[in-house]
Amino acid sequence: MRHAEHILVKKYGGTSVGSIERIENLADRLLKDVARGQRPIVVASAMSGETNRLIGLAEQIDPDYRGGAYDMLVASGEQVSISLLSIALAKRGLRAQPLLAYQAGIRTDSTFAKARIQSIDSSVLLGLVQKGIIPVVAGFQGVDPEDNITTLGRGGSDTTAVALAAAIGARECEIYTDVPAVFTADPRLVPRAAEMKTVSAEEMMEMAALGSKVLHIRCVEIGAKYNVKIHLRSTFEDREGTWILPEADMNTQLEQPVVSAVTHDANTAVFKLFPVPGGPQFLASLFERLAAKGVVVDIITQSETNEGQRLAFSVTKEDIPLSRQVLKDFVEAKTEVSLIENMAKISVVGVGMRNHPGVAARFFSVLARHSVPVHLVTTSEIKISAVIDQANLSAAANALHTEFGLDRA
Ligand code: ADP
Ligand code: ASP
Ligand code: MG
Repeated sequence: MRHAEHILVKKYGGTSVGSIERIENLADRLLKDVARGQRPIVVASAMSGETNRLIGLAEQIDPDYRGGAYDMLVASGEQVSISLLSIALAKRGLRAQPLLAYQAGIRTDSTFAKARIQSIDSSVLLGLVQKGIIPVVAGFQGVDPEDNITTLGRGGSDTTAVALAAAIGARECEIYTDVPAVFTADPRLVPRAAEMKTVSAEEMMEMAALGSKVLHIRCVEIGAKYNVKIHLRSTFEDREGTWILPEADMNTQLEQPVVSAVTHDANTAVFKLFPVPGGPQFLASLFERLAAKGVVVDIITQSETNEGQRLAFSVTKEDIPLSRQVLKDFVEAKTEVSLIENMAKISVVGVGMRNHPGVAARFFSVLARHSVPVHLVTTSEIKISAVIDQANLSAAANALHTEFGLDRA
């Protein structure tokens, strides 16, 4: 049964609820939405900076700890923001109810810090909406089968919102943030980045996977799977924003651009191991253990030297504690493990790359012209990525953006 005719899931990120003044402004906007006949289900993140602050507290005690206590701690930021927003809505004469994940029926698996949503009982939220009450749901969190609080990974409130939209059978989900659109690159790094009116789900997933934090990758996956169009918009300006659409709904241009966007991830870290045992068995066991902990290993290189086998792989900074735990338990004492933290990944993404040879040549020529050393490389049909020093990130991103014709006119 489709329930969602006038019901709209609206997600507000950290900056949108970043101060009391912003929460009051947001409540004013929601009051107008309701006056226009909308029946919102609101999802909110923690106030900006709060999740980082909480993680910092835990790290002062043990930087490598992960487990139920970590999730319970970092999920608490959303409890504050949804309560404050509900108070602001009540002040305006609206009926609002803050809901934590257990109250909203958001069940996940037990992978702490990276839990995946398994089911959502939409009846609670729909019941509230039917009574004229605005549900204000904590993003980012869930509850596992043992009733532990879990979290969905950094940026996970987007996923809460799109999963709720899918659960109630909605066809779209609004994600409000501090930029007016998805751009051809992070506008904070590349000032000439241009706004995109639409992005295919496939490209958006690749951009999210490569570190563009504007949308959490799993929200794009859920949107594509359940046919929920994601509408990214500014909290602060009334603009149309960007629609993330399935390929079939894209108004495909006759000539697609070869590269659609430049994406970066400044949160890249590289582990180097030397010497490691030769042969695939060691690699199989190591990557199996990392995967079992939920670590996403990104780029892997292996090389043979006279002194033995070298292995390097990259992970996001978030995964350093779990990776370190696995390496501590698994590698032999004679293997030297080093961690290089100040790395960044720079990528170009575009479905147009499928039909255009020579993108890799242009990509590396740009890096060569700017004397940017490349540490690790990976490619797929629709992307090329290189791990470089963070110090070179801005020059590389801007030069690639210009090279592939993406600069705003
Ligand atoms: P929120 O707290 O609303 O979830 P985030 O900080 O998670 O906001 O995501 C928005 C940020 O994503 C922007 O401020 C911007 O710096 C960054 N960003 C990275 N890549 C892009 C891109 N291609 N287009 C727009 N914003 C991007
Ligand atoms: N508050 C969480 C974070 O900072 C979730 C989110 O913002 O989406 O990662
Ligand atoms: Mg976010």
